[in-house]
Amino acid sequence: MISFCSLASGSSGNSQYIGNKTTKILLDAGLSGKYIKSGLEGIGVDPTDLDGIVITHEHSDHIKGVGVLMRRYDVPIYVTEGTWNGMSEKIGKIDSEKVNIIKNDELFKIKDIEVKAYPVSHDANDPVGFTFQNGTGKIGVITDLGHYTDTILNEIRTCDLVMIEANHDEEMLQMGSYPYYLKRRILSEVGHISNEVSGEIACDIVKNGKTRNILLGHLSRENNFPDLAYETVKSIMESEGIRVGDDVMLNMTYRDKIGGLFVIK
Ligand SMILES: [Zn+2]
Ligand SMILES: [Zn+2]
Repeated sequence: MISFCSLASGSSGNSQYIGNKTTKILLDAGLSGKYIKSGLEGIGVDPTDLDGIVITHEHSDHIKGVGVLMRRYDVPIYVTEGTWNGMSEKIGKIDSEKVNIIKNDELFKIKDIEVKAYPVSHDANDPVGFTFQNGTGKIGVITDLGHYTDTILNEIRTCDLVMIEANHDEEMLQMGSYPYYLKRRILSEVGHISNEVSGEIACDIVKNGKTRNILLGHLSRENNFPDLAYETVKSIMESEGIRVGDDVMLNMTYRDKIGGLFVIK
């Protein structure tokens, strides 16, 4: 068994839980320690039982609570060297023995869950996406990336459940109030992917892979709506002949509350 729950996802803070009876992992901790504690307790996970926090990159919406959680629950982190260099000064005083430097494309284990980090293109030091697997299932998360590659698709096609970024609606972003430089950054190769691109990825991993559960995440507050993201991705999949709700389940994660608990048996 392996389960997944998004505690929060969006530009104001990200944290996801992946675990089973023996192993409990957080992917990013970009909210207050208090929020993450109550989110975990909401799905029956005692934060003192956390075995590790894996970190995608050093942007504050992914690391805000890391220092607090490390100190309060004595939990180790797993992070690439570039990301560690970008965040070490921002998280307060921690026990350096709790910092595990990981390498891209190398499997490592946190108790009985195998974890793999693979590079994504985003404006951070060494940003990564992650997959998590044990004997029963595989979970992938790709948020905070400007574009996708075949390598990334290959990583997530073998996942049962994938959480994909659906950051913005391209038209809303273009027409919206963001300053020009910010629009350019988001739309760039190292920014964030749109609902439309999210739909392309969803089609690929359902048609060419084994993914049967897709979650959309990291929605922009200003340049997207949950219904718009959902409907855009759904209609792209349906135009490719994929029956949403039948061939694949499509669900949302939320900016400020925990999402569903998905259990792969
Ligand atoms: Zn970021
Ligand atoms: Zn982010």
